[in-house]
Amino acid sequence: MSPAQGLSRRKSVKEVLVDEHLLDAAAVDQAEENARREKKTIQQFLVEQNLVERAKLLRALSTAWEVQSIDLSKAPPPDKEIIQLIPESAARRHMAVPFAKNDSVLSIAMADPRDFFVLEDINLRTGLELRAYLALPQDIMALLDVAYGRNESAVMDKLLASVQQQEKDKAQLPPEEGGQIEVQKEEKSDITDIDASAPEVEKFVNAIILGALNLKASDIHIEPFEDPTGKSSKMMIRYRVDGMLREANFTMPWSYRAAIIAKLKIMTNSMDITERRIPQSGRIQILAKGNPIEFRVEVVPTVYGESAVMRILDRKAVQVDIHRLMFLPETLDKFLSLLKGIGGKKNFGLIIVCGPTGSGKSTTLYAALNHVNRPDIKILTAENPVEYNIDGIVQVPVNPDIKLGENKKFDFAAALRSFLRLDPDVIMVGEIRDEETAHIAMEAAMTGHLVFSTIHTNDAPSAVTRLVEMGLPPYVVIATLKAVLAQRLARKLCDKCKRAEDPTPEELLVFRENKVEIPPGTKFYRPVGCPDCKDIGYRGRLGIHELLILSDSVKTFALKQMSAGPLREFAMQQGMMSLTQDGLNKVISGSTTVREVLGGADETK
Ligand SMILES: [Zn+2]
Repeated sequence: MSPAQGLSRRKSVKEVLVDEHLLDAAAVDQAEENARREKKTIQQFLVEQNLVERAKLLRALSTAWEVQSIDLSKAPPPDKEIIQLIPESAARRHMAVPFAKNDSVLSIAMADPRDFFVLEDINLRTGLELRAYLALPQDIMALLDVAYGRNESAVMDKLLASVQQQEKDKAQLPPEEGGQIEVQKEEKSDITDIDASAPEVEKFVNAIILGALNLKASDIHIEPFEDPTGKSSKMMIRYRVDGMLREANFTMPWSYRAAIIAKLKIMTNSMDITERRIPQSGRIQILAKGNPIEFRVEVVPTVYGESAVMRILDRKAVQVDIHRLMFLPETLDKFLSLLKGIGGKKNFGLIIVCGPTGSGKSTTLYAALNHVNRPDIKILTAENPVEYNIDGIVQVPVNPDIKLGENKKFDFAAALRSFLRLDPDVIMVGEIRDEETAHIAMEAAMTGHLVFSTIHTNDAPSAVTRLVEMGLPPYVVIATLKAVLAQRLARKLCDKCKRAEDPTPEELLVFRENKVEIPPGTKFYRPVGCPDCKDIGYRGRLGIHELLILSDSVKTFALKQMSAGPLREFAMQQGMMSLTQDGLNKVISGSTTVREVLGGADETK
């Protein structure tokens, strides 16, 4: 057979198995079907089920495909640095892992070493000469898991395998005496449902949490998806990392859905595990690697059963130093000058931080409070809920569900009203979303208090007009408002792997349109992906800001023309930097990309 024929006519795994008399065609078909259902490769399935011995399988494939093979499970573990010569995502996609390097020759284990395109791609990425070996896909994935710290996925695989085995054993149990199985007549109660106290449930929950900590996720989403045929029903686990949702590399067996949620409820010490029809919330405190970690847990009923969202409460978010929020230096100077001279009723007025949900508004507010927090200054906050306690600040959790007599509830407005009797210097009220709260915040600001709050608008001028739309007289808004800070978050390029490249014509156009000059010698960077950033190319986020200071000239203008568009234009003439301009300056400093500045914040929703 000529080499050309060899390439064009390649035996499939099935053909090799049948030709070598390892299994008959029907058995292979059945195994392929089962492997597909379990989302495994046929090689993994055959070995796990003891249908073919690992050594025999390797030998048969290596002979038929005319390539050398390596049993990675027996070879000494390669250096992490060598494994990481190929980005994780590419390695997983190609089922290929480098395991040795001599001078310019890279030895690489592959599930299918005759895949020319994979070899070409790896050659382009590494610039090394390649020597390909055949290996079992499960061994390749296991090496990658270890190298990239995805051990929880390996742990999970083992757990799942043992659980599946248990279920199989259960299914093979002979029917009880009389051979009758009692069918429950009540609702569709599932006889395979697992009890929350089963030991593997705790392990599942731990693995889910560990996965979040490894990825530095902010939220965990646990969601049931029922397939009407019952075949691919699953509990999907997703993590929010730097604002983006990503699916975990494992799912939970369907039969565990209720047990996992019940376990979470038990861990809160406050939720009712028998109540499955109404939303519930609570908190979980755990120790992970010696550090106390707290989660806020929300459980909501869905058509497929209960779903849970766990938010990791980050103590660091309230201890944040305002100098670390990535303000441009001139914007920070202006913002800090607004916070000077508090106490003795000398600095008063309203400062608003605005932006969409998840734009870091409360982090900025906490940073501002930390900045002004001194023993001689009294600070009161009304929050819903209070996520973390800050030393030296009196924090009041508001709860609109608490009724204060007829038609009165303990909301932001009620808290603010009581604050005025407590004579604070600084007040922070979580959010202004109705006329009543806006009205009392203004009253507090006018009577000698420095008031911080947030409003849900996209840019700074719109926050001014929003207050007027809420029903406040324009002259009151203008007299009281000191400044509005609009903000968004953009992902920050990973410093370890970002790569300098020339800007594209489209990017240059964005700079021209926004009148931002690019200093000579500026480098534009692109995301690449490395182990440090889990192959994303971005790591962490930075704030993009737009600070509108209500100077005398801006006040005069706004009184004449209270609409966001003209107000924005005037403020920019007076030196206000727009969100986009601020972001483009952070592109110039090499921290992020034009794409993030223009669209990144929207994608995070
Ligand atoms: Zn990186």
